Order: sequence, then structure tokens, then C-alpha cells
Amino acid sequence: MDFPILNTKVYDKPLVYLDNAATTQKPQQVIDALTQYYLTLNSNIHRGAHYLANQATERFEAVRRQVQEYINAPSSAQVVFTRGTTESINLVASSFCQKFLHEYDEVIVSGMEHHSNIVPWQLACERVGARLKVIPFSDEGVLDLDVYESLFTKRTRLVAVNQVSNTLGTVNPVKEMAAIAHGHGVPILVDGAQSVAHMPIDVQDIDCDFFCFSGHKMYAPMGVGVMYGRQELLEQMPPYHGGGEMIKEVTFEKTTYNELPFKFEAGTPSVADVLGLGAAIDYIRQQGIENIARHEEELMRYAMSQLKEIPNIRFIGTAPHKAGVISFLIGSSHPYDVGTLLDKLGIAVRTGHHCTQPIMDRYGIPGTVRASFASYTTKEDIDALVAALHRIAPMLD
Ligand code: PMP
Repeated sequence: MDFPILNTKVYDKPLVYLDNAATTQKPQQVIDALTQYYLTLNSNIHRGAHYLANQATERFEAVRRQVQEYINAPSSAQVVFTRGTTESINLVASSFCQKFLHEYDEVIVSGMEHHSNIVPWQLACERVGARLKVIPFSDEGVLDLDVYESLFTKRTRLVAVNQVSNTLGTVNPVKEMAAIAHGHGVPILVDGAQSVAHMPIDVQDIDCDFFCFSGHKMYAPMGVGVMYGRQELLEQMPPYHGGGEMIKEVTFEKTTYNELPFKFEAGTPSVADVLGLGAAIDYIRQQGIENIARHEEELMRYAMSQLKEIPNIRFIGTAPHKAGVISFLIGSSHPYDVGTLLDKLGIAVRTGHHCTQPIMDRYGIPGTVRASFASYTTKEDIDALVAALHRIAPMLD
């Protein structure tokens, strides 16, 4: 078993873990990478004149090149380590907007964004008196690209959109959306939190200007993420945090900044977690991201065919192109009640608004029950969910 935690029993029942959109479990080799780092390598990077520091620095920088290759970035200098998607987006919202967003300007987001791809833009807009514009979506959960195109004005400075919705599972046509944005001379940020572990990612093919993701949703530890950016933009953007590592020279009169990517990496990073991210990328490579994508697509088809037999089930998000996420409600029952009953049967799902309250408002619902998949999800896991729902459905309405 690659994932030791999946052997866990909860309430004396085998754990069925279907909360992968919140965080994935970690394979043994990622756990080993963390332990090995603290057992054999622990030291601060980039500034050491000793053996351990040099080894740790080399390994840390090797992971940057692994990430570069994984997302097909043109250079590793464009790969900035952060604490996760949220910090990556805040970095861009703070730094890009400081340089490029002014009063009366506009930022376009979609109506199906995670709060972490809404609130940082609201904060940036509030600071200067700019405003957000929102791309609407259909009842199925498909973005309206005609309206999207019509939202651009001379004042539009950035588009920010997710590649996969963590609530609806919709795969958004980010390549097409990037082409439309660039047609108006506007850069685009893609939130890849829910796509990076589920489909091949090629930032040059998408032609996005920023791509943000979290390690913990791709089998890596919590506490590490990535902000990829287009070189010309990163060079023009001011630093996000000030501190050690991001400087070239400091005097009380003037400080000059380090080159990319270090300009955006102030302070001591979570070195062990970055090495864990490297081990996670190795793990995905061994499985093959195309194989993972195919496996999850099959699971999605299988799950939908079984779940639609549950009495009074209503799916939230039925776009033709979906990845890894099924949101639903049963009758008029509260999602929390469904989640609690499933939990008692050993099945871990997520309930609530999933940090996407505007989606809940759009459908007029308090939340959903969400089952989400990973490479280790099996048909047996789906069978367990379906059997449990058949069992609890009569208690709910
Ligand atoms: N965007 C999306 C689409 C997400 O699903 C999530 C996590 N649920 C985030 C952003 C935020 O990720 P993190 O909490 O790892 O920073």
C-alpha cells in the first residue's frame, strides 16, 4: 500500500477517503522524504558554507527544476515557492496590482471561484478603487464565454479563473480564455489547485501569465505551493515580502532586490516540504499523469451511473467536461446531515460551501455534499459510497 493512512479504521470500519479536493493523502515516499530531510540534511539553504547547507540547497533547487518540467515552464527562475495556492494568488494580487492596478481599473474573475481567488482581488481593488467583474455560469456549471468576452474594456487589467472548480468539478477552457484575454492585451492567472494532480499541465500551451497551485492537493506535504509567472511580468513586479534572501544589497538608504525567483522568496522556506513536493512529483511520474486522468475519468463515469439511482439525489455541477469532483444533495436534507451519517459509516466526504459561497448563492442552496477522487480511489470506494447512500436516503426525507 503506497498510502499508509488508507489502512486506517474509523469507527471500526475501513476508511473510505473521498475528500481529495480538500487534501490528498501522502504516499510513503513523500513521508520518507520529510523524515530523511530532518534525519540527514536539515540546514538552512542558499547561505551555507558547509556540507549540509550545500546538499540541502542543491536538493531544494532540483525540486524547482522538477516543478518547471512538471508544468513545462520555460525556466526554473519563473517557479516561485510559496505556502500554497492562497499565498500564490495573494502574491500576485499584491505585487502585480501594486504595479499595474489603478483607480477605476477592472479585474475579471469567474462566478465559480474559490474564496482565495476572489478575496485577494477584492482587497487589491479596495486599495486603489478598482472593481471586480464576474463571468456568469449556466445551471450545468459552464462559464458563459460570450459574456466573458463582453466584460473586457480598456480598463481591464487581469483575468483570474480556476482551471477546475473545486465545487462543481467543471474543467474550464483556460487555453481559450487566455487567448481571449490576450486578444484584449490582458494577462490571465490560472488557479490550478484542482487541476494540477488530475491532468497534464503545460503552462506554455495554456499560455497563461500566472499559474498557482498547492502541494498538498498533489500528494505532497502541506505548507508548500507554487506561483509560476511570465518572466517579463515577474521582472516588473515589486517584491511581495521583504526580508532575507530576496535582496541583493541592503543599506538604510536603499535596498536592491535579488534576481528571480529569489526576489519573491523572503525568509527561510519550508525546505522539507519542498523536498516532499519533489517526491510527490516523482510519485505522479511513476503513475503517469495521463493514467491518473484516465482512471479518474472512468471513476467519474462509474460513480455517476451508480449515484443517479439514489432516490431524490440532485447533482450540483453537471458540465460535460468535469474532473474528479461530484457535488450533490439528497432531497431537502441538509448536506451536513448526509456527511455526518456517511462519516459514521467510515466514508469521508466534504460538506458545506467549500469556500465558494457565491456558487451556493447562485443555486440558492446552503451547501453540497462533495465526493472527490485521487489516483488511489477505487470502484470499491464508490460502491461503498453508493451503498451507504442507499442505506441512509430513506432516513433523510
Ligand atoms: N483554489 C481552489 C480551486 C481550491 O480548491 C483551493 C483549496 N480548496 C484553493 C484555491 C486554496 O488552496 P490552499 O488552501 O491550499 O491555499
